[in-house]
Amino acid sequence: MSKKIPELYGSLVFGDRVMREKLPKEVYRALRKTIEENRPLGLEVANAVAVAMKEWAVEHGATHYTHWFQPMTGNTAEKHDSFLTPIGHGEVIMDFSGKELIKGEPDASSFPSGGLRATFEARGYTAWDPTSPAFIKDGTLYIPTAFCSYSGEALDKKTPLLRSMETLSKEAVKVLHLLGSTDVKSVLTTIGPEQEYFLVDKDLYAKRRDLVFTGRTLLGAMAPKGQEMEDHYFGTLKSRVSAYMHELDEELWKLGVPAKTKHNEVAPAQHELAPVFDTANIAVDHNQLTMEMMKKVADRHGLVCLLHEKPFEGINGSGKHNNWSMITNTGTNLLYPGSTPRENIQFLVFLVAVIKAVDDYADLLRVSVASAGNDHRLGANEAPPAIVSIFLGDELTEVLDSIENGTFLAKREAVPMEIGAAVIPRFFKDTTDRNRTSPFAFTGNKFEFRMLGSEISVSGPNIVLNTAVAQVLRGFYEELKDTSESERSEAVYDLLKRTVTQHKRVIFNGNGYTDEWVEEAEKRGLYNLKATPDALPHFIDEKNVKLFTDHHIFTREEMVSRYVILLEGYSKTLHVEAKAMLSMLHHDFLPAAERYIAQLVSVIQGKTGVDPALTSTAERKRLTKINELVQAVYEGADVLAEHLEKAEGISDPLEQAKYYQQVILQDMQDIRTPADEAEGYLPQELLPYPNYEALLFSV
Ligand code: ADP
Ligand code: MG
Repeated sequence: MSKKIPELYGSLVFGDRVMREKLPKEVYRALRKTIEENRPLGLEVANAVAVAMKEWAVEHGATHYTHWFQPMTGNTAEKHDSFLTPIGHGEVIMDFSGKELIKGEPDASSFPSGGLRATFEARGYTAWDPTSPAFIKDGTLYIPTAFCSYSGEALDKKTPLLRSMETLSKEAVKVLHLLGSTDVKSVLTTIGPEQEYFLVDKDLYAKRRDLVFTGRTLLGAMAPKGQEMEDHYFGTLKSRVSAYMHELDEELWKLGVPAKTKHNEVAPAQHELAPVFDTANIAVDHNQLTMEMMKKVADRHGLVCLLHEKPFEGINGSGKHNNWSMITNTGTNLLYPGSTPRENIQFLVFLVAVIKAVDDYADLLRVSVASAGNDHRLGANEAPPAIVSIFLGDELTEVLDSIENGTFLAKREAVPMEIGAAVIPRFFKDTTDRNRTSPFAFTGNKFEFRMLGSEISVSGPNIVLNTAVAQVLRGFYEELKDTSESERSEAVYDLLKRTVTQHKRVIFNGNGYTDEWVEEAEKRGLYNLKATPDALPHFIDEKNVKLFTDHHIFTREEMVSRYVILLEGYSKTLHVEAKAMLSMLHHDFLPAAERYIAQLVSVIQGKTGVDPALTSTAERKRLTKINELVQAVYEGADVLAEHLEKAEGISDPLEQAKYYQQVILQDMQDIRTPADEAEGYLPQELLPYPNYEALLFSV
């Protein structure tokens, strides 16, 4: 089996190997230029690629093609067309042109646009992204595309990501040239997203309205056992899970997704998959594919894959760690310290640039991970807090301290070529120091942004990171560009020193879960944006609008539209959750509880009828208790229903989101508390849906 993996890998991808084989030499070269140097692509080239793509796809059993894009719904979107073209006399050929490859016209009116596009101009375009390879899935050729409106506004998550990668490359190259790396032509951002998920039994899942409609449990008493034994993390894979993971790996490998690591996670029924890192936009596409295949393969195994950030109360939720770095076209990882002083200086410049970027745009980073689901995790003692800070580790912090207090340079004059080598390699061997509580941690040769929820596209956080770092590098370049070569190292040192002094407040190597840190962070003036409605308005703060418009990532209109889409998405999510909860209460929970009350009543009446002495106070006490809890649930349900109506009537999107967060969520909690307590008493056979015990421990 393992012999076949190199053949299996990428077998359904129109990748470099196939292109070299199938495309005329000049066409192949033109396409590579587009991919590597961002050159525009001519229609003749597109035509030739289309022919080769279609032939290859048909050989592999494809009958259809689709432009595959990432609208603001959070999912991917596709509309399939067959290659079939009638040529008269009842005959058809399989045809596909360059025009069809490079441009599609899905009706855009039903995708969220946040008011960007009036319905009378519902036209939207999808445009081929040649930098992310096409692939075959279920008999259809998938062509990764960007999605924009008739007037060119981005309506998706790919367009701004590509723009952010370009601006970062441009600014990084300028700085690298100043620092002496004149051979560098471009810089790519790399991402390795570690993906967490839960697996539950499909039949059990189908019986729970909350899971079916919202992806998380809205009611449910904790099982006798949770994650307190710490026996699931890295535990032996059960055979059903192992079979699932095995097939998932194979499916992903066929699609060219380099799935690498798999293991059990902390919570029962929780697992993780990590790929080998890749170029940012490919990694984003691959993460979308991974999430999709996780669900699809689960179905074949009688399982359901839950990607929600908080499927179960009382145990850990799921996140996604976004490992991020920058690599030059000459193969240097800019966050790898290297062993020569020159490279170390370069490394320090980029390291410090990231620190400044994270401090300057901490609010945007927080916004980029804000969602109703993720609000249940951030700040809980299982995920990094909502405060954005950086973990560097002691030794790297020491290096920055020495820059700040001048000892770095002093040492440097004494032993000019040694200093970097003497100080820096040491911390590299020692980065085993892991701080799991930090939202943004340096891990040896990359940063790991850990605030992402498991369900979101990794595009957003990387758009922010790339653009923020590009902005800082732009400032560095402006400051250094007019220095002569002899002055430059002094100027670089001054710049590093000043930047470290200004931004060290964002560095925190301690335990991010403590209350002391919350207080300390407030003293340092760091943001603590707890819930999504607190965070989102910062997206359109003037400084952030300036950042994105200066770098041509978004126009102001695009930003406002995204802001509205995010707010509305948040409110809609909570609205559906509240309705699902009410439905579950009325159809499942309350009838079950009433049946139990009736049982208790008839037991008591029966005994009293025979002989009052037979009825113990225990039975009456139980009846009173359950009755009280159920009354509280009834009352809570009425309040929730009333508030939901009110929520729907609020027209201002921010006000509405706040109402959902402050009122509706609280109402739901007020129902859940007595309902879960009551569930603890209900006889198993009365509860019409599986409890936590069954969900978490049956696979
Ligand atoms: P861990 O964080 O558990 O130590 P690894 O260091 O192996 O695990 O990496 C976790 C993820 O980071 C993997 O997806 C890996 O491919 C990715 N990664 C490693 N190097 C880079 C890099 N230079 N840029 C982006 N991601 C990277
Ligand atoms: Mg990791």
